[in-house]
Amino acid sequence: MAEPLQLMPSTLVVDLQRLLAPERVSNSPEDLERFAGDALAAYRAFGRAKRVEVPPIVVATPKDTNEVSALAAYASKHGIPIIPHGGGTGVMGGAVPVDGSIVLNLRSLDVIHQIDREGHRVTVGAGAILEDLENALIPQGLLLGHDPWSRPIATVGGAISTNGMGYLAGKYGSMGQQVQGLEVVLGSGDVIQTPSVPKIAGPDLDNIFIGAEGAMGIITKATLEAFPQPEVRSIHAFRFASFAPGFTAVQEMYAIGLRPAMVDFAEEYPREPLKQPEEGITTLYLSFDGFKEEVAAQVDRGRKICLASGGEELPFEEADTFWRERHDSAERYKREIQDVGPSARRRRRAWRLDYLHVAIPASKVLEYYAFCRGLLIDRGIPVREWSLWGRPEYFSLMISDPSADDQGDSALMSQAVDDILTAAQDLGGSMEYCHGVGLKLTHLMQRDRGEAGMQALRNVKKALDPMGILHPGNLGI
Ligand SMILES: Cc1cc2nc3c(=O)[nH]c(=O)nc-3n(C[C@H](O)[C@H](O)[C@H](O)COP(=O)(O)OP(=O)(O)OC[C@H]3O[C@@H](n4cnc5c(N)ncnc54)[C@H](O)[C@@H]3O)c2cc1C
Repeated sequence: MAEPLQLMPSTLVVDLQRLLAPERVSNSPEDLERFAGDALAAYRAFGRAKRVEVPPIVVATPKDTNEVSALAAYASKHGIPIIPHGGGTGVMGGAVPVDGSIVLNLRSLDVIHQIDREGHRVTVGAGAILEDLENALIPQGLLLGHDPWSRPIATVGGAISTNGMGYLAGKYGSMGQQVQGLEVVLGSGDVIQTPSVPKIAGPDLDNIFIGAEGAMGIITKATLEAFPQPEVRSIHAFRFASFAPGFTAVQEMYAIGLRPAMVDFAEEYPREPLKQPEEGITTLYLSFDGFKEEVAAQVDRGRKICLASGGEELPFEEADTFWRERHDSAERYKREIQDVGPSARRRRRAWRLDYLHVAIPASKVLEYYAFCRGLLIDRGIPVREWSLWGRPEYFSLMISDPSADDQGDSALMSQAVDDILTAAQDLGGSMEYCHGVGLKLTHLMQRDRGEAGMQALRNVKKALDPMGILHPGNLGI
């Protein structure tokens, strides 16, 4: 752990201005407030709600890897915590500063260094926005395999550091699975560059930094696989009577090795009234991507499986609208929160709902669904949605606080959330597959990894960040 700051904040600002440039270092109240938190709403942090807004002492915006390295060396020498910040869209509090820290705003590292069209790779700065990268790949006939809701607002470095999931994960995997090589600045300021190929000899260092939420190193550049644009993309929607038959359809596709590029399956409840014991509206959205003969065969077999499981195919417009509107929530977040500023972020912190995304063995999903349903009915907590995303193991639910006013008992929700997440761990799964650990789930990290696992992580961190300056406390290490 870093020692408390010995320098006066004003000395720190002058030193950093010397290392970078005056205009790249700010301690203006507006900037400190802007970088004081991310997209974790205070309500969802429960017992840690007071920690979701912690201003740093300074915000530094380095322009290249050399500046990141100089900054890390300086911070290590003086024991000052560094908090890497990409788009600030993380929903678990992974980018929330600790007291007395420097926020490293990585958005200026947004250069697309090379698009290797024949090699199906792209090398890009960590601060590039995912959508900007996607837009640069399209004219080259290439595609970014990571397509989250937050594509218009999240960065490459943030997506790797949370090992994010997107709509096309069924075919292309999580963001981490698309990484071929990384450039990373360690706590000491040393720079690691890993080979940029799909597989290397010996342990792959990339895996230490994927999903590490800034605690192991600062990613400055990444080489990602860039996939050929599919010859055909065929999108479909099926309605099911309830969760179980739709889940069975997904399982049966997996059983024959049929992997749709998109699997988005949800049982949703109308907002008013939220009568949880009743069945909701259950829809499975599928996309099949590839060359035309392959897609034709997949559509044919996928449709047969869905119909045989009791599904009814919905008009194409339903699937098409879903696909076209998939980034709307991020556009809204940008317009209504990011562009307005911290006051809007604070208002959003009062939303009284939570969303959970666990990874459990596919064979346990229906049992787990029944367990969660029973638990929530017993405790009178309404459910808005049950869902699967990407593959049968990735199960999500959205729940809302039953209390009618802001003075409700969030201890009820907090306990239910922990009980649901620990039940996933007890089934041999993990408490989160999509957004990472952050401030929200640090208290369950040891349970997820075990004591020896946590010690191993601490040892790795100690080797990469001997002064403990890289986001101290993140990942619970
Ligand atoms: C409306 C909305 C929709 C969303 N939809 C999705 C979705 O579909 N799928 C999904 O996976 N997530 C989603 N998210 C969550 C969020 O967008 C992702 O977690 C995203 O990957 C975070 O990227 P970021 O650039 O905003 O990272 P930040 O929030 O800035 O940082 C996230 C974490 O990574 C660390 N970090 C950032 N950059 C670096 C770096 N270069 N080196 C080392 N550490 C770094 C930070 O310290 C922090 O711990 C959504 C969020 C919102 C607000």
